[in-house]
Amino acid sequence: MIKTLTYFCVFFLLFGCKNNENQHDRNENSSQKTLNEEKNFGIVIHGGAGTILKKNMNDSLETAYKTKLKEAISVGYEILKNGGTSLEAVTHTINVLEDSPLFNSGKGAVFTHEGSNELDASIMDGKTLNAGAVAGVKHIKNPINLAFDVMEKSEHVMLYGSGAEEFAQTLGYKMMDTSYFYTQNRYESLQKVLIKENNNTNEQVSFEDSFIKNSKFGTVGCAALDKHGNLAAGTSTGGMTNKRWNRIGDSPIIGAGTYANNATCAVSATGWGEYFIRSVVAYDISALMEYKGLSLQEAAKEVIQRKVPALGGDGGIVAIDKDGNVAMEFNTAGMYRATMNAKGELIIKIYKDE
Ligand code: ASP
Repeated sequence: MIKTLTYFCVFFLLFGCKNNENQHDRNENSSQKTLNEEKNFGIVIHGGAGTILKKNMNDSLETAYKTKLKEAISVGYEILKNGGTSLEAVTHTINVLEDSPLFNSGKGAVFTHEGSNELDASIMDGKTLNAGAVAGVKHIKNPINLAFDVMEKSEHVMLYGSGAEEFAQTLGYKMMDTSYFYTQNRYESLQKVLIKENNNTNEQVSFEDSFIKNSKFGTVGCAALDKHGNLAAGTSTGGMTNKRWNRIGDSPIIGAGTYANNATCAVSATGWGEYFIRSVVAYDISALMEYKGLSLQEAAKEVIQRKVPALGGDGGIVAIDKDGNVAMEFNTAGMYRATMNAKGELIIKIYKDE
């Protein structure tokens, strides 16, 4: 009897455990499946912030901007949807905007005081905190790609001017003729500023008059979260009309124009670069989340609506956090912007109140 009872107990224990294990396996599998199915991703882009007013825009131009924003964000979205990385999504999305004359980056870059185009770009990987940037390049069609290569293929974070282009040549980059970057309306913007400067020889033209009011904004940027949980951000620009003395803005500066950290968020900024450098905008948003526990939206608002204007600057940011929440915050009349979530829901906007 005791023997039978012992057999029964052993059998029960073994069978019971096995059953529990199976149950456990099943639970693990099903939660793993749910996890995979629910892997969130998202993307957000900007095409510059500034005095973008509906009354100054015509329907066809508005459509052209929205069409290009949609084309660009769709490229990044498809990459993310198919399991690509946020870095790939950011670079390919920015390439579309760099190749469009509508935006102040790559083709369509604004002119310097001397009548040339000097391009800046940066990119950051939120997983490794690795980053790459180029500034003042004159012959690179897609500066964001070179920034990526600085990050991936050099020991450095930032390369400038002819040195950056020498590095590009070692990688087989084609050096574009400077005429590629010429666009009539950007050239005319410069001429207007120069005329104004010449007419005011006795009066010092304020920095704001010279740069801001006459600038056509249009810096481009992108922040993305991929299915692997990795964040990335990138920014590409021609800087500001009439810039001189090799002026460099915030766009190629990690922490100011671009920042990404898997622990918090990925940010790309646009606006009056000098103020964005001084406010360390992109990093400050991440830091407010990390150290103060603010949400992405709260952090973006604090920096863009309070800190930057308190110094006298203006502009905006796009950002996405590790959970896929998005912020598109700006303190100007408008910001070209778009976002797409994992469900494929698309938002494209230009003005403040829409
Ligand atoms: N932030 C850029 C710069 O200062 C310009 C812009 O975003 O419009 O170079």
